[in-house]
Amino acid sequence: MIPFNKPYYSGKEKSYIAKAMETKILTGDMKMIRDCESLLEKKYSFKKVFLTNSCTMALEMAALIANIQPGDEIILPSYTYVSTANAFALRGAKLIFVDSKMDHPNMDEKLIESLITDKTKAIVVLHYAGVACDFSVIQNLSKKHNLFIIEDAAQCIDAYYTNIPLGTIGDIACFSFHETKNIHCGEGGFIAINNPALLAKSEIVRNKGTNRAAFTRGEVSKYEWMDLGFSSMPSAISAAFLFSQLEKIEKVQKKRLKLWKNYFKKLKPLQKLKSIQLPIVPKFASNNAHIFYFICSSEKERNNLIEFLDSNRIQAVFHYQSLHASPYYKSKHGDRSLPNADKYSQCLVRLPLYYDLQIEEQEFICAKVIEFYSK
Ligand SMILES: *Cc1c(COP(=O)(O)O)cnc(C)c1O
Repeated sequence: MIPFNKPYYSGKEKSYIAKAMETKILTGDMKMIRDCESLLEKKYSFKKVFLTNSCTMALEMAALIANIQPGDEIILPSYTYVSTANAFALRGAKLIFVDSKMDHPNMDEKLIESLITDKTKAIVVLHYAGVACDFSVIQNLSKKHNLFIIEDAAQCIDAYYTNIPLGTIGDIACFSFHETKNIHCGEGGFIAINNPALLAKSEIVRNKGTNRAAFTRGEVSKYEWMDLGFSSMPSAISAAFLFSQLEKIEKVQKKRLKLWKNYFKKLKPLQKLKSIQLPIVPKFASNNAHIFYFICSSEKERNNLIEFLDSNRIQAVFHYQSLHASPYYKSKHGDRSLPNADKYSQCLVRLPLYYDLQIEEQEFICAKVIEFYSK
């Protein structure tokens, strides 16, 4: 079976973990964690990075740091992962879901302004497949209506808007190092704080609601409960694993991009025949080759394709189910229809894409997709 994903291994994980174990300091704000954080800060110019044990945790921290209160309204895409929405629902916020674009799963920026009310506190953007939203629109709205921008940048390592790294524009951005992402540590992630006014609070939220960081720096004589917080730090074992992967990011990206481009080239004839719609990368966005997806013409066709590939020992998968239509939020959302989000829920399919995917395996996958459409 060609699986949908195989986690990447740098080969240095074991030796770095052994080194971390020798220090006998496996928890807290130790060197291994700071090494990962400063590498990320330097490479991508984030103002401040805190490693977390997941992107989900980073999003929950973001909602707390932005001081989201019951009744506040949050504008976010419907076509996204549950964690994007759940973090804000946990704070009692009302979720205002926005439809996707006609030609891209990302939220349609043109629809946002009419949904802003005096209760709106933040726009939460998702950059699907690591492809940027149109920040020119979102930044204008944020300034005009005084709204936080929070980026669900889970898929966005080494992805850019014009030349600007994703995750540096929003007030807060959340990344994932889950094993399905380009680089990973099993479960992990980070929160990037770009708005200096949020730094002090984020340090407290990160330290379980205490001023332990100030205590460690010798600024206070004891540490106390200052505010709400989370236990969000990974252990040194995860950080050591991650560091070995961060060192290899260029190598990973080069290989993934090569595979992505080959998929695009091989499947282009199907787009010409109007059988499928290949992914679009707008001029202002880069492609970090996180996902290779395309859009089928119906749900039935998409499901038949997945079944056909499965019978050929290839694991292709669909993706999100629109959150506005989810069992949990359907009745709260009301009856505003979001047809493009529904289309991606029904018709989008993702093909295997990982560092160790062999070129012959990829040729086989393309041949089988083409065979499906020639029947
Ligand atoms: C992977 C992903 C998450 C969740 O990341 P975890 O690190 O598993 O919590 C959230 N949002 C998006 C868009 C993702 O792709």
